[in-house]
Amino acid sequence: MTAPRIVVVGGGILGCTIAARLLEREPRARLTLVDRGLVGAGASMYSAGVHFPVGRSERVRQLSAASADYYQTLRARHPQLPMYGFDFFVAAGAADAEEVRARCAGLLPLSAEEKSRVAPDLPAGRELWRMPDCHVTDVQGLALWYAQRLRDRAEVLEGVGAEALDESADGVRLTLSSGRELAADAVVLAPGPWVNEGCWSGLTAGLGVRVKKVVALHIQWPAEEGAALFFPAEDAFLAPLPHRGHWLFSYTCQQWDVSPEQCRQARVEAREIAEAREALKDVAPELASLAGSGRVFCDAYSPSREPLAQYLGRHRRILFVGACNGSGYRLAPGVAAEAVALLNHTLTKG
Ligand SMILES: Cc1cc2nc3c(=O)[nH]c(=O)nc-3n(C[C@H](O)[C@H](O)[C@H](O)COP(=O)(O)OP(=O)(O)OC[C@H]3O[C@@H](n4cnc5c(N)ncnc54)[C@H](O)[C@@H]3O)c2cc1C
Repeated sequence: MTAPRIVVVGGGILGCTIAARLLEREPRARLTLVDRGLVGAGASMYSAGVHFPVGRSERVRQLSAASADYYQTLRARHPQLPMYGFDFFVAAGAADAEEVRARCAGLLPLSAEEKSRVAPDLPAGRELWRMPDCHVTDVQGLALWYAQRLRDRAEVLEGVGAEALDESADGVRLTLSSGRELAADAVVLAPGPWVNEGCWSGLTAGLGVRVKKVVALHIQWPAEEGAALFFPAEDAFLAPLPHRGHWLFSYTCQQWDVSPEQCRQARVEAREIAEAREALKDVAPELASLAGSGRVFCDAYSPSREPLAQYLGRHRRILFVGACNGSGYRLAPGVAAEAVALLNHTLTKG
């Protein structure tokens, strides 16, 4: 049996996690990871990196739980990784309690005394629960760590784009911007928000994936003070970023069908600051005036709002993985495990 040849296109958190999990499953695989920029410098660079056990569907809750286990083991084995545990609380109206319990795994109730200590300014009528096993990560840092380790066992190519894909019953030929051609038994596409661009666009068009702008505000407030809160009704959260020394407020921006290149040029607009401040006024009024800057990029969203891991094309040799709907960090290990399971036939055939 010869070792299978696999190419992963896209060195974001998802592509790097897939590459790492693939070598865990099949150490003999001959693997190449290709990114047209630098590893971790796409959506992953902008990620808030918050992991919390939430999911609207059973599959997403399972992916979240599987990812939490993976990250817990990773942190225990490699305590130097830029991953920081923190207390995270769900704040929701009492009428939403049932739905909140269904969406968030393992919620722990808080006593009245704990509630007033954790969030004394929470508007009346909101209930508070503690979410277990939450952490925040420097996502680009983690992607770079994966890539550094991969270089011992695989080829990592940066600054080299995938320009053409040619699938046949025997394999896939991938042409790179450097002029090199790679022959692979299977190609994994993990292009993040570049899902509808590039040489695979004819194959991904039918997936119905759309790209949405994502905006998060930075709040200059000591990371060790205050309470991290998730507001499920508003799909917003307030979390500390200890590795950067500030807080971040993530809220839902409804600007659709943007391109990643457009978003690279984008700046936080006055309108977005006003919107975020308005949202903050309802949930943490004392922080609203401190939110005046932040980060803007985009992410890929699937029609079902569940991540995708599926073959494209005729020969089950081009696997698309992505469209993680603004949760690509917290679901990456679970989605990567699904991708590796799908590649199983290629890995065992090798
Ligand atoms: C502001 C913001 C905050 C976020 N906060 C969170 C959070 O708190 N928690 C969470 O779980 N998620 C969060 N997300 C979402 C998360 O960051 C993304 O879902 C995740 O980073 C996507 O990872 P990826 O590897 O799929 O994509 P990317 O990181 O974008 O990686 C794709 C890579 O593909 C490469 N590529 C593209 N075209 C080609 C080509 N032709 N050839 C070779 N390479 C190519 C790109 O250069 C890029 O590096 C946030 C996103 C944003 C924008």
